[in-house]
Amino acid sequence: MTEPRRIRVLDPRLANQIAAGEVVERPASVVKELVENAIDAGSRRIEVDLEAGGARLIRVRDDGSGIGEEDLPLALSRHATSKILSLEELEGVASLGFRGEALASISSVSRLELVSNTDDDPTAGWRVVAEGRQMEPRVSPAPHPRGTSVTVRDLFFNTPARRKFLRTEKTEFGHVEEAFRRQALSRFDIGWVLRHNQKTLHQLRPGDDPVARERRIASLLGKGFLENALHLDLGAAGLRLWGWVGLPTHSRAQADQQYFFVNGRVVRDRLVAHAIRQAYRDVLFHGRHPVFVLYLEVDPTVVDVNVHPTKHEVRFRDGRMVHDFLFSSLHRALSESRAGHPGAGHP
Ligand code: ADP
Ligand code: MG
Repeated sequence: MTEPRRIRVLDPRLANQIAAGEVVERPASVVKELVENAIDAGSRRIEVDLEAGGARLIRVRDDGSGIGEEDLPLALSRHATSKILSLEELEGVASLGFRGEALASISSVSRLELVSNTDDDPTAGWRVVAEGRQMEPRVSPAPHPRGTSVTVRDLFFNTPARRKFLRTEKTEFGHVEEAFRRQALSRFDIGWVLRHNQKTLHQLRPGDDPVARERRIASLLGKGFLENALHLDLGAAGLRLWGWVGLPTHSRAQADQQYFFVNGRVVRDRLVAHAIRQAYRDVLFHGRHPVFVLYLEVDPTVVDVNVHPTKHEVRFRDGRMVHDFLFSSLHRALSESRAGHPGAGHP
């Protein structure tokens, strides 16, 4: 018989590295978390810089609220967040983050530097570094315009087993670009830049009017997307669904142009997927996939976003009602288009 081993509380660094396994899979997941923080900080402009597909360097720069000097070391601690204080707040949470884990996790598996300034004076600002959480974060003065820059170098340098799972530079960059595309589609009012190895690949001006939105869609998804899509904007019972759905004639062999947002959050949800599939069922050939960029707006208290650490999944309080609303809205838009009418109204 083996002797029982003593139970011990994990060292915080190890606890963070284990937690990192859930949210930090690859450079794209780091970009997603850093960009979500930038959005939550009320930024109007977000720049993402990468080197070597993100394995060597990921930098996200924003012009948001910034983090005060006293809060800087806390920003890197686990379960430390400025976004919720109570369970009641979690139930109606409107921010993308709330778990207070991303920066702690990322800094436990990389060399992370955060520079931030809450002030309009560009010579003010503070810097904090954490290197694989081997040392307590050190805070020192560093000039920065109002906002925050987070630089993540050498992802997984101290967890070789994870590093081995990184694919080629091109593959990792492809995942980052897809994450960027989703984020940029989620907020038309924010200006975005994506650079890889010093080359600018996307530069998107902010604009939330119909023309600016379509300009962004064309820039991110190609001109063909809009030429073969219907615009719709429908509401019922406190729900609003708007966006673009591809004509059945414009289906794809892969489900690679499907974007669905719930209250600005990128979501992959079975219920949603099922409703859309049903709506297209009679008009698409078997094995083909529709394209869409759809925005569902609901009261935040009727949707639970705390289902999974990556928050890609959601749970609706009344799933059936949401399903029926999605199905009937899309079904109507698609059958009107087949009857030769324009969609449910073009902007
Ligand atoms: P969460 O987003 O769940 O709160 P994070 O670990 O991602 O947890 O971030 C911790 C905290 O650090 C946030 O609650 C926020 O106060 C602060 N923070 C992180 N990134 C930024 C940013 N870009 N701008 C302003 N504050 C930030
Ligand atoms: Mg966050």
